[in-house]
Amino acid sequence: MSDCIFCRIVAGEIPARKIHEDDDILAFHDIHPIAPVHFLVIPKLHVASLADVGPEHAPLIGKLFSEVGRLAREQGCTDGFRTIINTGRVGLQEVYHLHVHVLGGAEPLPPMLKR
Ligand code: AMP
Ligand code: ZN
Repeated sequence: MSDCIFCRIVAGEIPARKIHEDDDILAFHDIHPIAPVHFLVIPKLHVASLADVGPEHAPLIGKLFSEVGRLAREQGCTDGFRTIINTGRVGLQEVYHLHVHVLGGAEPLPPMLKR
């Protein structure tokens, strides 16, 4: 997926401020943070969105989420954090490579959505 920006980060073709990397998962700071802590966790495998995840991805997705809490604590989120997965047109997804936003900081975040 040479036209996918996150695949290009995985391939090392675009720089990123990485905070974790293993065989299956990459975590890096969001380039436009909207909270004091804002990083992304992605599978290295190109999966376009959560809508494209199926049972065959269960081990990979399980591994991804099993890293989130530890990474959040390492980044200073010791009293909670928020995860967001924007999916598709309605979810206002911008980058079509599955990613989990992890957001936090010292103070509570704004409400998730305005009523
Ligand atoms: P979304 O697809 O709407 O969930 O958002 C994509 C996110 O990727 C945005 O928060 C962007 O700031 C972030 N982003 C886009 N390009 C990069 C990049 N090269 N490095 C880090 N984060 C990025
Ligand atoms: Zn990709």
